[in-house]
Amino acid sequence: MTDAGYDEWLDAVGENEGYYLECPEGHGALPPRRVCPECAAADLDRAALPESGTVETFTVCHVAGPSFADEEPYVTAIAEFGPVRLTGVVRGTDPEDVTVDTPVEADKGTNETTGEGLLVLRVR
Ligand SMILES: [Zn+2]
Repeated sequence: MTDAGYDEWLDAVGENEGYYLECPEGHGALPPRRVCPECAAADLDRAALPESGTVETFTVCHVAGPSFADEEPYVTAIAEFGPVRLTGVVRGTDPEDVTVDTPVEADKGTNETTGEGLLVLRVR
């Protein structure tokens, strides 16, 4: 059950059942993974994703690429959730209000242009 793909993981996040993969040493990783990226342990278990994380770095994108044409400007951020870092699009606030340490929760959203799922970091 640890070799699920990213899409399945994203569905779980959207159902408030987000998780990460934890190795015996306590390293965290996101699926799909068969071995720990830090120590190569093959014994990965699912652990519950922390309910909230904090923005670590972010980028305000003013020039939208084709797939984000309906969403500009937008902010992409890397947020720390315990031992894992999630990259997603920040929603729930104005782009200029995002700062390092902004608390966010992970959710599944939809790219309004392509209809594909994407990770949303929703400001709490
Ligand atoms: Zn490890």
